[in-house]
This record gives sequence, structure tokens and C-alpha cells, in this order.
Amino acid sequence: MLEKIALLGSTGSIGTQTLDVISRYPGKFQVEILTAASNTDLLTRQARQFMPSSVVINDKTKYRRLKENLSGTAIKIYAGEESLEQVVSESDAETVLTAIVGYSGLRPTIAAIKAGKKIALANKETLVVAGEIISKMLSVSASRILPVDSEHSAIFQCLTGEEKKTIEKITLTASGGPFLNLPADKLENVTKGEALNHPNWTMGDKITIDSASMMNKGLEVIEAKWLFDLEPDQIEVLIHPQSIIHSFVHFSDGSVKAQLGLPDMRLPILYALTFPDRYTSELPRLDFKNYPSFTFFQPDMKKFPNLQLAYNALRKGGNMPCILNAANERAVSAFLKRQIAFTQMPDVIEYTMGNIIYIAGPDLSALEETDRLAREIADNYITKLQKRK
Ligand code: NDP
Ligand code: MG
Repeated sequence: MLEKIALLGSTGSIGTQTLDVISRYPGKFQVEILTAASNTDLLTRQARQFMPSSVVINDKTKYRRLKENLSGTAIKIYAGEESLEQVVSESDAETVLTAIVGYSGLRPTIAAIKAGKKIALANKETLVVAGEIISKMLSVSASRILPVDSEHSAIFQCLTGEEKKTIEKITLTASGGPFLNLPADKLENVTKGEALNHPNWTMGDKITIDSASMMNKGLEVIEAKWLFDLEPDQIEVLIHPQSIIHSFVHFSDGSVKAQLGLPDMRLPILYALTFPDRYTSELPRLDFKNYPSFTFFQPDMKKFPNLQLAYNALRKGGNMPCILNAANERAVSAFLKRQIAFTQMPDVIEYTMGNIIYIAGPDLSALEETDRLAREIADNYITKLQKRK
């Protein structure tokens, strides 16, 4: 039987790597849905190769072009955010791999959970924003989430066959990003190009900046809380510049389990798509002789305040992680447009977190309103910072 897959965000870094994985197992997977924000050319090529039932383009102005490109095929073409939710809910895909970046992944993921589909989750922002609501939804749904993020895949693999009550704590490893060894006083002047130059991973722009600022690890701490039902004190972060040990679990008897592998996202993608099986792959193998030493350091939260801000948001709970995420998305976007300095990103986030009404138990509409307001506050603050230049 072919496993039917909906791939949301197929034109991105995770999306294209997922299609690479799928193409390695002919006869195992059927791609049902492919989606993009605006990259019609790549979406067209992918659609002609994988022949899904439907494609969705977010940008409605690209609909006509996509329709022309795919004329002569039986592929159904949709445009706009609302169509995405509808197509996901109504499709007969069993698995939805969510590789959309940012808050935009939230609604389609919720639609997939409501439809009882298995979620292979790359879009960590969804759990950061609405982890509590999503956990509740999962508890009354046939749906389940399998992590794609490499650290969470590592933890998930270590936990297979273990009882939850035996987890003492987990350690999420972090590469430290391109500025690990840069003196803190030089961080202010780093350029967009330097920040986008990640030492170990090739990823989309947003997560690459998040990795350089340590916000990625902060978002992953919150993601881990909801995926594995842990307390903030049970989640620690350790810098491991080689990115070979993807994370650890510490158990109550003193044992520690870790999952290791080359930094290649196709591995966790394959595991999420095929769990509980472990497929044979031709992916490059880890040779320990090439890594004579593994090193570990405590993260420097003074140099990278984003990690501390994420822990603060997690401990506060309610709509605070949603505020953190929205302000971060605006700050990253402003840094990428060269409107603010690298070191001003945490300022934008901290300011936004301190200047918005806190809601202890927000429902989905309260989170939507929080996201909108937080973006507005962050944008106004960014404008102020620009004027001060
Ligand atoms: P990319 O920016 O490379 O790709 C994002 C994808 O989502 C593209 O297909 C893009 O379409 C689409 N998209 C962007 N905005 C919207 C929107 N508003 N509505 C619908 N679709 C949209 O991101 P990555 O692949 O790097 O990351 C995707 C997610 O996976 C993120 O949440 C990230 O944190 C997570 N992740 C990524 C890892 C990686 O190695 N890249 C590792 C672990 C997690 P278009 O191409 O048309 O713009
Ligand atoms: Mg990760």
C-alpha cells in the first residue's frame, strides 16, 4: 500500500529534502498535495514530477500562471490560505508533513489534526504558539505528531521503548551557529550574509537567522515541552559545535541515551515518514574517525539573550510564547531587510513581551489577536529603532 503524503511548503529547504527522500523509495509513497507561498516555477516542476492530486499556491496572483503551467494534467489547482486548510482537510492523505515556515503553519496543522491525520511536524512555530491547544486537540483525536526537527527526532528515537516517568531530563544540543566564537562586542555589526552562513546546516533564511541568534534553540525548548510533556527545568541546552549528537535523554537510573548522525535533515524526515519502521537508506554514513573529538559548552545567555527570553516565555505560559514568536518573526524580517542590527532583535522581542496584555489561558481566537497585536507593537518599535539610527 502506498502511503499518501500531503507536503505543505514543498518548495522550501525541508520540502525539497522531503521530496528527495520520497523519490528514493519508489512504490512506498504517493504525493497527494504540494504547496508553496509563491514559487510557481519550482512548484510546477515538482507537480510534473510527482503528479499530486492537488497543488495550492498561497499567493492568489500566481493562480493563473500555475494553471497554465499545469494545463494538460489532471492536477487540481487552488490558491489562497483558506484553500490550503480545506484541501488538507478533504484530502485522503494519511500523513501531512508541515514544512511551512512561521505562524502561517498553525491553521493548516490544526486542520490536519481535526481531520485525524498523522502529522510529521517541521513547523516548530505551531507548537510554540499554540502548544497547549494542540496538545488538548491531540488528546481527543486520532491524529498524532511525529517530530521532524532533528533534536526532537533524536529525543523521540531515544524514548522509543521507554516509559515517560523514567525521564529525568533532556539535553537539546545546539551547534552555536556562525557567531559562537565571535566576541560579544562584535555581534552588533555582523552582516546579513555572515548571519546566513551557518556552519553545519543549509536551511531556509528564517531558521538560519534563528540559529545564529539562538532563538531557534529557544523555540525548540518550547517545542520539546509540548512534544514530550516536560517541565521547563527538565529541558537543558548544550552547545555541541560538531552537530553529530542530535540530543540526549537522561533517565532516572542514571543512564543517558543519545542519537547520533551526520547533520542531514533527510534522516529525521525519513524516520518521521516511516515510524515505527526504520527503512534502509543510502544516505551518507557517519565515520567516527572524521570526528576525533566531541565538545560541549554551556550556552552564553548574555551574549544571546533570545534563549533566555524563550525560557521566560515558556515559564510564563499563556499567550507569552505566541508574543515571543510573533515579535521574533518581525525582528528577523527587519534584520533581513537590514532595518535593524543583529543585536536589536532581542530588544524588539523583549519590548514586545513587556508591552502587551498577558492572557493566561488563551483560546485560538485570542492567540490570533495576540499574534496580530504583537506584530504591530514589534513593527512600531522597529520603526522607532530605525529613526534613532
Ligand atoms: P523555507 O523558507 O526554506 O521554506 C518554507 C516553505 O513554506 C516554502 O515552501 C514556502 O513557499 C512556504 N511558505 C512560506 N510562507 C508561507 C505562507 N505564509 N503560507 C504558505 N506557505 C508558505 O523554510 P525551511 O524549509 O527551512 O523551514 C520550514 C519549517 O521547518 C520551519 O518552521 C523551520 O523552523 C522548520 N525546520 C527547518 C529545518 C531545516 O533544516 N530547514 C530544520 C528543522 C526545522 P515559497 O518557496 O513559495 O516561499
Ligand atoms: Mg533543530
